[in-house]
Amino acid sequence: MTAENELKDTQENNSEEDNSGGTSGLMDSVVNLCKRRGFIFPSAEIYGGFRSTYDYGPLGVLMLQNVKNLWWRSMVQSRDDIVGLDCAILSSPRIWEASGHLKTFTDPLVDCKSCHERFRADQIGSVCPNCGSLELTAARDFNLMFKTHAGPVESDSTVAYMRPETAQGMFVNFLNVLNTSRKKLPFGIAQIGKSFRNEITPGNFVFRTREFEQMEMEYFVEPETAGHYFDYWVDRRYNWYLDFGIPEDMLRIRPHVKEELSHYSTQTSDIEFKFPWGFGELEGIANRTDYDLKAHSEFSGIDLRYFDPFKNERYFPYVIEPAAGATRTMMAFLLSAYSVEELEQDSRILLKLHPRLAPIKVAVLPLSKKQPLVDLAKTVTKELTECYMVDYDESQSIGKRYRRQDEIGTPLCVTIDFDSLDDNMVTIRDRDTLEQQRVKIDGILDEIKIRLGF
Ligand code: ATP
Repeated sequence: MTAENELKDTQENNSEEDNSGGTSGLMDSVVNLCKRRGFIFPSAEIYGGFRSTYDYGPLGVLMLQNVKNLWWRSMVQSRDDIVGLDCAILSSPRIWEASGHLKTFTDPLVDCKSCHERFRADQIGSVCPNCGSLELTAARDFNLMFKTHAGPVESDSTVAYMRPETAQGMFVNFLNVLNTSRKKLPFGIAQIGKSFRNEITPGNFVFRTREFEQMEMEYFVEPETAGHYFDYWVDRRYNWYLDFGIPEDMLRIRPHVKEELSHYSTQTSDIEFKFPWGFGELEGIANRTDYDLKAHSEFSGIDLRYFDPFKNERYFPYVIEPAAGATRTMMAFLLSAYSVEELEQDSRILLKLHPRLAPIKVAVLPLSKKQPLVDLAKTVTKELTECYMVDYDESQSIGKRYRRQDEIGTPLCVTIDFDSLDDNMVTIRDRDTLEQQRVKIDGILDEIKIRLGF
């Protein structure tokens, strides 16, 4: 299949319900690269795709894991005030009654009377984006939660919902975590996992999908300190994106106006990324007040107040929540890393990913498939795989192999040539500077560590 056909194919699979605006050249290039190199495939492609769902390929799964690991390192591993949790996706529907999701987790839906397509009323105005008709139904609330039944009987009493956010699992486990971790305020609970929303208009590749991954943290604080911690988390989270390579001019903080705030929030700021179609949310930081703990106390009859040993009183803590999307963030990292560089003879496509985000850290490339070169290359590969994801590649010309590694964002290539057999040295090539340097095989792992910075 030619690259052009591949792109067309991917777009067709994506466009099924993609009513959320056109794509740009950059977007097409990244979607194309994702499929061509094995980052992200349209799900069930052999059946024509399935409703804007996606599968993560061999490189995509590594990169997504890196995004999540970096978040976890910064939120849990490097701190002594935040612990992790992993809750069930299916759980009691009472959770969603208490949280307000059953009543208020809705988007306004309109139907076009002419072509019968459905849209989010707040996204389209008064004209059908599909056929141009002005005949639209009145907007009505559409609940975004996926409904199913737990157990073999389908009745009202067996209804269950796929979680639309990971947050509630952390509120309903508040006492379990508090009692087992023995944390004092301020402290947080962090969770990474899948969430599901029956979006009316998914689209723009993995920006808005019905199944996606979130990285959320609930930070419990004394109510009077909530303002301080809100500012603190907006700043911390904003800098996290900069630290891993999103340029400052592609990132902004947008405070919500009053009318936009969710039912539980008194203050929210979004961290937004400049997508090809305009700024879009990567993460929301919200002051959820004591809304959730209070609601779950009321609905469950269990007192979820915190006992403050210093004040000698019981109260509901306030919650500051940084809520990010792992899959959407991965897309932002890909878009900001994609570049085409003109060289003397030709051009190269480059993913300038931060080394920690790159799916493969080092490629080991023997100049020939012949023995004993291959043996030496495999020995080097084995040593490096102790610490890093390594790609061993012996096929095609060295130029093509370099281009392939550039395109998937591999920071370093280690090339093994016939001289390596005599002088026990290899060439390390840097993705960004294209500099090549000969280094000793003995101590190669340390050399790579220094160059990668970890
Ligand atoms: P949006 O306004 O884009 O619908 P939201 O404000 O409803 O997002 P939150 O409930 O704050 O989103 O969820 C936190 C994060 O989860 C978002 O910032 C986003 O990165 C991610 N997210 C939410 N919905 C989706 C989706 N349908 N597909 C992919 N990621 C999503």
